[in-house]
Amino acid sequence: MAGLTCAQVLQQAGYEVVVLEKSRGVGGRLATRRSHGTRIDHGTCYLSPKAELFQNFITDLVQLGLVHVWTNCVHTLFPDGSLQPSSEQIPRYVAADGMSAIAKVLTPGLDIRFNQRVVGLATTSSQTWQLTVDDTTPDNTATASNLLEAQAVVVTVPAPQALDLLAPLEGTALSEQFIRQLQTVEFAPCIAVMAGYPADCLQKWQAAYADVKAIGSQQHPLAWIGLDSSKRRSASQPVFVIQSTADFAQPLLNATDLIPVGRSLLQAAADLLAPWLATPDWLQVHRWRYAFASSPLREKYLTANSLTPLVCAGDWCGGIRAESAMLSGLEAASYLNQKLKNQAIAPTQFWHAIASLK
Ligand SMILES: Cc1cc2nc3c(=O)[nH]c(=O)nc-3n(C[C@H](O)[C@H](O)[C@H](O)COP(=O)(O)OP(=O)(O)OC[C@H]3O[C@@H](n4cnc5c(N)ncnc54)[C@H](O)[C@@H]3O)c2cc1C
Repeated sequence: MAGLTCAQVLQQAGYEVVVLEKSRGVGGRLATRRSHGTRIDHGTCYLSPKAELFQNFITDLVQLGLVHVWTNCVHTLFPDGSLQPSSEQIPRYVAADGMSAIAKVLTPGLDIRFNQRVVGLATTSSQTWQLTVDDTTPDNTATASNLLEAQAVVVTVPAPQALDLLAPLEGTALSEQFIRQLQTVEFAPCIAVMAGYPADCLQKWQAAYADVKAIGSQQHPLAWIGLDSSKRRSASQPVFVIQSTADFAQPLLNATDLIPVGRSLLQAAADLLAPWLATPDWLQVHRWRYAFASSPLREKYLTANSLTPLVCAGDWCGGIRAESAMLSGLEAASYLNQKLKNQAIAPTQFWHAIASLK
């Protein structure tokens, strides 16, 4: 979200922009998996805009028919298995085609190079950045890395991953202070399990929990239980996404087999809500090593103030959610434009740039 937003605004301001993405699709943690004839959001579950600019973006997507209100209510799960609806009624927006469709809106016209993992950065004698990029295509046999040259770089990966990339430049191209700031940002992990059930389980769920689609929890190991299939237009079977707490995920970051881990999360949900949740038709498990920023920065971007411009952006700059990622991407674009052309992009220009993508 941060990278695509920043890239769009800069491209529309006249820069030649290349997006390097290590995976084979866009969205990052706005993630959707296609499986068992449906789409499943195993990352961001919903968006609930706060800033006007983000609300405008979502409103436009609603008008396009891409996004709709999923629910106004997230229930809270208690230790005895009881549920309490939230007192605040706030619209939670989702995309019927999966949350990654929201990121796709930001891609038109961009030069996005998939399966390209940036593994190193260095400055050149002509004050440009040289990026070392590995091809991550699964069947790729080439061993050599590609080199790319850029006048400026925007790094929009979670802070610990940015640190891996940038720490080797401490004291040379990047200041100690910049690296220290990056080190203050911590991320919490999460394990997400996706599970599909026989069609008749939907009636069982609705009989017990009418209108309950979204459950927030502080009951270890459960952080979130969502009836993901209720986001889709015509789901053939109920699909749940269950997210773990960070405490549960932390010791399992290097586990080789995640299926038993997924089963234990389903069992925990079954113990509190409905026994059949423990026995799905199928399940898949995803490990998010860097799910949420647990100590984000206040600033909307982090600049190295280096001779050759480099700026970091992402949800961890000014927040912890997809909305903050977008706002951070916008601010980073403005900073870079000011640095390169000595002229800021006004907020209205940001908005026109994003709105013109419709
Ligand atoms: C399980 C889960 C549930 C969530 N629920 C919500 C929610 O309900 N609402 C909400 O608003 N937010 C939620 N979030 C948070 C939200 O997903 C993030 O805040 C937002 O997507 C972050 O966007 P970003 O652009 O900063 O980073 P990311 O989405 O992490 O994007 C970084 C991108 O960089 C790529 N990348 C990483 N390293 C490299 C490299 N070396 N070279 C090239 N590419 C690289 C990645 O593949 C990725 O595409 C959730 C997150 C998780 C994990």
